[in-house]
Amino acid sequence: MSEKLTTNKGIPIANDQASMTTGENSSYTVLQDTQLIEKLAHFDRERIPERVVHAKGAGAHGVFEVTNDLSKYTRAKFLSEVGKKTEILVRFSTVGGEKGSADAKRDPRGTAFKFYTEEGNYDMVGNNIPIFFIRDAIKFPDFVHTQKRLSKNNLADADMFWDFLSLTPESLHQATFLFTDRCTPYSYRHMHCFSSHTYLWYNENEEYVWVKYHFKTKQGIKNLTNDEAITMCGVNPDHATEDLYLAIEDGNYPQWDVYVQIMTPEEALEYEFDPFDVTKVWYHEDYPLIPLGVITLNRNPQNYFNEIEQAAFAPSNFVPGIGSSPDRLLQGRLFAYEDTQRHRLGPNHHQIPVNRPKNAKIANYQRDGSMNMDESGVNDPNYYPNSFDDIKPDISFKPPAIEVQAVIDKHTRAIEDVDFIQVGEFWRRVLSDEDKQHLVYNLQQHLGNASQRIQLRQTALFYKAEPEYGIAVAKALGLDIKKVEELSKLSPEERAEATKA
Ligand code: NDP
Repeated sequence: MSEKLTTNKGIPIANDQASMTTGENSSYTVLQDTQLIEKLAHFDRERIPERVVHAKGAGAHGVFEVTNDLSKYTRAKFLSEVGKKTEILVRFSTVGGEKGSADAKRDPRGTAFKFYTEEGNYDMVGNNIPIFFIRDAIKFPDFVHTQKRLSKNNLADADMFWDFLSLTPESLHQATFLFTDRCTPYSYRHMHCFSSHTYLWYNENEEYVWVKYHFKTKQGIKNLTNDEAITMCGVNPDHATEDLYLAIEDGNYPQWDVYVQIMTPEEALEYEFDPFDVTKVWYHEDYPLIPLGVITLNRNPQNYFNEIEQAAFAPSNFVPGIGSSPDRLLQGRLFAYEDTQRHRLGPNHHQIPVNRPKNAKIANYQRDGSMNMDESGVNDPNYYPNSFDDIKPDISFKPPAIEVQAVIDKHTRAIEDVDFIQVGEFWRRVLSDEDKQHLVYNLQQHLGNASQRIQLRQTALFYKAEPEYGIAVAKALGLDIKKVEELSKLSPEERAEATKA
């Protein structure tokens, strides 16, 4: 049986092929065609603000299963026993590109997880690389602007990209990762994911440890070369979105093994690197990967807009047993992610089905606001404490007290030699000869578009991490190696002065 076409108010429509006009041929449209007005007005509002970062993404539903009992470290119920399964939503994305940009562009890949646990929704937002460009959230808007477009001409600009990075030497570790082939992954299925940040795990006795999560692809690492990625951008700008969708449609469900590194509070005081500095990793030899579980993506969204575009992830969504750390970038993200969702989706974004806790009940006295759909509590008091209902806080969920020594200031961290150590280790110990060749070529293709003074300043940083690395890049760019070496010996301030416009 056919259905009646209706307006958004359910009113039957007589004709949806012609506007109401003053005549048969060329004619004026009358304002009283409210059906036309509703249709156009709704169309005008189909888009919501895209995310400033991570705008282009793809996602799927799946399941997380615990394979190793680490419940002595965390009271999180979804991690409490081997075999326990929790529904998840995962969204992968590029970072800098706009919503219509190509999946194959060189960029870190965002990896956002939502765990629908029985203690509420737990979100983790990370990347396909274990570190980040900056370690203080106050630098984030500047950093992101350099990955976007110049105000004057709306064009990407190699000078602004490299000017900022070369004046921000703590970015060197991730800038190096960015120009390996891992930042042009073959697909979202063929890359690792990392929490990057350090998080808190605590148990029922209020004992705590620090953790980092690693999600290792079971499909194997597979990348595009720089040239393949450029071709892919034109041939199929949605290649990674399509790959994920088709793999799941075919029943070829992608999986990741989940591991954690665990550090005690005492060890954190002693570690040679600041364990909360997101520009650093914890060496595997010092903190080996401990298995935790496995993730399987097995269900495509039915409606991309509802389930992926409107999916709201925020690292501030912790469940009991998990918390934040004194990682300064994380501290800023705890505010910014939730705030982004308030802006994009509104104060009641948690009521959109994909964001609603599926296995936990919401009970509080927050009321009303734009687009409120929540009917619970209509007949109940809307304040706490009250003497009508029995909703109350439970002190047994109290997280452990963390001792801090506080001197409130705008503490500026000096750029120290320690910022270059792990980059050197990456070049010397991890990258194969082929990886190095590709890295240098990829850098040449991009950094080569910047002004020579900026090329020199940046290449001096590569040199400072490892002379062989700096020399290889300098040769590829045709730079004066002596000059690069001299610049590498200067302080950041002197280097900036020696290479200013
Ligand atoms: P290891 O020598 O124990 O292991 C090397 C790590 O590097 C593995 O995780 C490996 O992941 C990864 N890796 C290998 N090739 C590449 C590549 N081309 N691009 C990016 N990552 C790659 O590492 P250490 O812990 O001793 O650290 C040494 C250096 O390795 C660090 O300074 C850091 O730059 C880098 N690294 C460290 C990680 C960590 O969490 N400790 C994670 C990733 C890189 P796989 O083979 O599974 O792909």
